[in-house]
Amino acid sequence: MAVDLHVHSNVSDGVHSPRELVVMARDRGISALALTDHDSVRGVPSALLAGEELGVFVIPGIELSTDIENAEVHILGFYIDMTSAKLHEVLDMLKKGRRERCEQILSRLRALGMDIPLEYVLGLGKEGFTGRSQIFKAMVNLGFARPDKRYGDFQRYLGKKGLAYVEHQGLSPEEAVKFVRDCAGVPVLAHPGTEIPFNVIENFIGIGLEGIEAYHPTHSKETTKKWLKFAKSRSLIVTGGSDFHKVSPDGPSGVGSLPIPDSIALELTRRWLQISSD
Ligand SMILES: [Zn+2]
Ligand SMILES: [Zn+2]
Repeated sequence: MAVDLHVHSNVSDGVHSPRELVVMARDRGISALALTDHDSVRGVPSALLAGEELGVFVIPGIELSTDIENAEVHILGFYIDMTSAKLHEVLDMLKKGRRERCEQILSRLRALGMDIPLEYVLGLGKEGFTGRSQIFKAMVNLGFARPDKRYGDFQRYLGKKGLAYVEHQGLSPEEAVKFVRDCAGVPVLAHPGTEIPFNVIENFIGIGLEGIEAYHPTHSKETTKKWLKFAKSRSLIVTGGSDFHKVSPDGPSGVGSLPIPDSIALELTRRWLQISSD
């Protein structure tokens, strides 16, 4: 058995419904699946329901996007309390922030000669989700960018150092960690890659970070090893997932496409029970 603790549905910027993801997990023999949509838990109830029906252990999750000076920092939150009043209040604020950020990116693109109406972008995301992937899709559809990663148009315009990049509005990484803790969840640093310095992470640990996503499709074997070692030395749990959004030639081929030891789902659940009884 294997697990996948990082997937996106069409509630954020994936293409499959939460239920379809659970079906894929079952078909691939995945024993535990965490739905981690960007800034939203709206897909969680239907994923939980499908999991119960199809025999897949579904873990409620979320992924929060934040920025530090030279990198983006994504914080995963597992087992958040869906009934928390704070949860919905903050998510509403983040939704507004995303919309404003989208408008700012579009005005930068406009200055570069790409006129993309906001309404067009809104129509591409389910229920008006506005992330850079929707903006990029609009750029491609309207002939302003090439979809192929080889040409690097996404990075050129929308990457952290891109011409039209605008920082995420809303939470700092520290606030994201605290927010997940406030919602009784387990905060985990998503795909740290090679860009996030150890001392920055030490700071997150000081305020309640509980884990590191060591297994991720963007991590080389060496990078994964580095984070496994780091996590062990700081008594952090390790998580991992495919970060599946949709089938694409340069991305993960589906739910469960990364070999991840299933013991990590157990460790995550243990840690959750441990911190919630503190
Ligand atoms: Zn991410
Ligand atoms: Zn993700």
